[in-house]
Amino acid sequence: MKSKHLIVVSVDALVFEDLEYAKTLPMFGKILREGSMVERVKTIYPSLTHPVHASLLTGCPAGVTGIVSNTHFTPGNLESPWYNRLEEIRCETIFHAAKRAGLSTASCRWPVTANGGDCIDYLVPEVLPADMAGHEDNPIQAYINTGTSECLLDIVTEALKRYGHGNDHPAYDEFQIYCAAEIFRRFRPNLLFTHPGYVDHMRHNTGLFNERVNASIKETDRWISMLWNAAAETGLENDTDIIILSDHGQLGISRTVCPNVFLRDAGYIQADEQDHLVSWDAYALSCGLSAQVYLSHPEDSALYNSVRDSLEKMAAKKDWGTERVFTREEVKELYGLDGGFSFVLESDGVTSYSDEWAGPALRELDTSDYRFGHATHGHMPEKGPQPTMFAMGPSVRKGVIVPQGHILDHAATFAKILGIDFPQAQGKAAEFV
Ligand SMILES: [Zn+2]
Repeated sequence: MKSKHLIVVSVDALVFEDLEYAKTLPMFGKILREGSMVERVKTIYPSLTHPVHASLLTGCPAGVTGIVSNTHFTPGNLESPWYNRLEEIRCETIFHAAKRAGLSTASCRWPVTANGGDCIDYLVPEVLPADMAGHEDNPIQAYINTGTSECLLDIVTEALKRYGHGNDHPAYDEFQIYCAAEIFRRFRPNLLFTHPGYVDHMRHNTGLFNERVNASIKETDRWISMLWNAAAETGLENDTDIIILSDHGQLGISRTVCPNVFLRDAGYIQADEQDHLVSWDAYALSCGLSAQVYLSHPEDSALYNSVRDSLEKMAAKKDWGTERVFTREEVKELYGLDGGFSFVLESDGVTSYSDEWAGPALRELDTSDYRFGHATHGHMPEKGPQPTMFAMGPSVRKGVIVPQGHILDHAATFAKILGIDFPQAQGKAAEFV
């Protein structure tokens, strides 16, 4: 039976190993008992939140969506702007396909949906610190600027009053779940996407598996209950499918390395006496556990070959924490990752990358940024604990366990549940829908 409503909850950085605990909780337990699952889901490369969420919406890898990293390549700027506007995704999303089929769509803080009002009827975007800058005294303006639907401004105003406008977890998640539940209650969209990030946040701050991570899973269970209760209150419980999925795992790390310090020492980056970047011929953008190396003139074969030799030499020294140097062609072939970079560095799995070009090349742990911390991601999708996916509802058969799937399958699964055409999605729908 085709469902009339689909709720998709992306629990950032939830992994299969978490389900041993999660199944003891009321809502996760209910969905796992009454529904079906794909145990381990291979994600895209780089395994970063914004690229993966763009792929979830499109069924296409980063080389097609154009969302190749969390942040844009802006050499010399350590605060590179994030990819967050829906129009930055270079292909159609499930929202476009759903609208074309006459369905109503909603997204509450799903990455890369800002200003996506042309195909999202009920939109609360992610409002990043750069969006909030200058609007701290009137935060609703930042929500208006990033495309929050006019009909939701009273809900967002109330959420701002209750939970504040910061990016701190779990207040950030409470804000979002309050809004998502209100959107379902009031507008009953056919499609609702939302993205609590507390588990990911706790892993970055405290490591892969521990009591505090479990506490964040327990809170997330409560939030999913709130969403499900909103469906029940509207009497639509039996017409609603719910999918819980995740975007990537994480790996425990112990240090950070700065490939731009190496590139500067090798003469490819020039900086002044205050360490401001003056010019560059090769520059690495950190993706956490991988880094994308851009060349000023990628068509210059002498530059290309000399940078490649230098990076290979760097990787050969264990101190530089680099397991492999991929060419652009190799990552395109292996992972469908393609962009303006010429090389991709893959970490040794215990070392994360920084964008810094000044100061020491090797650094101790630092929890101030997602790229560092006790655990992080961005690595090759085969490594470490894997993301997972499970679902229940009228479109989902009960008790099917699929051992292995791919993140690009999810968009096809959404389309099949909604009964809409989405031929662009490269994966295939889960066999239990
Ligand atoms: Zn994530």
